[in-house]
Amino acid sequence: MDDNTNLSETIGYITKNIVPAQRGRKCVDGRYLPTQASGMIARPGGDCGYVMALLAVSKRKALGLTPEHCFNVVYKIIKEHHDHFCMHTDHNTDPDSNTHRGLIGCGHLAKAAAKNLCSKYDVTSQDITRLVNYARNIAEISAFLEMINLDGEHTETGVLVINSKRYSVNSEDPELKKMYFIYDEERDNDFLKKLVNEMAIPGVTFADMKKESDLQLQATLHNLAAGLPVYSVRFEGEKHIVSFISFVTDYEKKRYFHIPSLHLPQNLLPKLRQRLTLNKNFI
Ligand SMILES: [Zn+2]
Repeated sequence: MDDNTNLSETIGYITKNIVPAQRGRKCVDGRYLPTQASGMIARPGGDCGYVMALLAVSKRKALGLTPEHCFNVVYKIIKEHHDHFCMHTDHNTDPDSNTHRGLIGCGHLAKAAAKNLCSKYDVTSQDITRLVNYARNIAEISAFLEMINLDGEHTETGVLVINSKRYSVNSEDPELKKMYFIYDEERDNDFLKKLVNEMAIPGVTFADMKKESDLQLQATLHNLAAGLPVYSVRFEGEKHIVSFISFVTDYEKKRYFHIPSLHLPQNLLPKLRQRLTLNKNFI
C-alpha cells in the first residue's frame, strides 16, 4: 500500500476542514456533517463513552457501580456546567422518533453491547444494554441530553488523531465526498482529567479511566476501522503537521494499533515506517 498517496490526499482534506475547537463532545464516527457538533471533542461514544469507561473500571476493580449510577455521575457533572450530555444514533437504527431497529446507531456502544464483543471493552452486554436504554429514556425527558441522529453509511477512509487545544477537523466533507474517524486525543485527555476530579469516586483514578478508555477506543477501531490508515495531526502555531502512523488491524491479527505510539518523537517515525514496510501487520 502506498501510504504517501493517502497522506497527500489526507493533508488536502485536513487543510480544507480545520475548524476551531468548541465546547462539548461527540463520537469518533465519521458521519457528522460540518453543521453537526462542529469542533466539539470527538471521542468514542461521546459522553456515553466516559460512562462506559467508568463501567469498565467498576467491573475491573469490583466497585459495584450500576450502569444507571455511572450515567448519573457523568450526566450531573456535565449538567452542573450548563453543558449538554451528547451521544448519537443513526437513521438505520432510528429512522424516525417512533421506530427503533436495534439498540442504537452508535457503533461504539452497539459493539460493546454485543455478547461476542463485550469482553474486548471490559464490560458486560447486559450493562451496556441497560445503559443505552436508560440514556434513551433520559433523552425523552431532558433538554440536557442531545441525541444526534446521523445519516448515511460508514465510508471513512482513515483515522485522524488530533493533538491540539485550539483546533479540530470536520469528520465529513460533503463536497469532497469523504469522511474520517476523528479522535481529539489531547482535549479528550484534558476533559477526562476534569471529569475524574469532579466525580471523586473512591478507587477511580485518571489512570484507571484512561486505560479503559484507550482499550475501548482500540476495540472500536478494530471493529469499525480495520485496515484503515491512522494519521497524527498536530499543530505548531497555525501550521498543521500530519504524519502517517500505522494501519488499524482486525482481531485476527495479534498485534493491535496502540495509541501511545502516536507520541513517538518525529525522528522515530521514518524507522517506524520502515518496519511497517517490512511487515504491514506490525501494528
Ligand atoms: Zn458513535
